[in-house]
Amino acid sequence: MNCPDCKDKLDRFVDRELNNTEVLELQLHLEGCPDCSDQYEFQAHLKRLVKHSCDCDAAPAAFREKLRQILT
Ligand SMILES: [Zn+2]
Repeated sequence: MNCPDCKDKLDRFVDRELNNTEVLELQLHLEGCPDCSDQYEFQAHLKRLVKHSCDCDAAPAAFREKLRQILT
């Protein structure tokens, strides 16, 4: 695997949408390539951040909606 290939699959790797062979190839490349490894860390971090803030936003919104229903 080369870097463009790796970066191409990184999105799906973070989303866990790759098959076992692709995951192995990608992990092998990440171990030997600090550049792609950085990119992966960044994407994984971003993903956690987005997921986390979504979770945080969803709960209060649902709560507010329930409150509104009770109050009206
Ligand atoms: Zn690379």
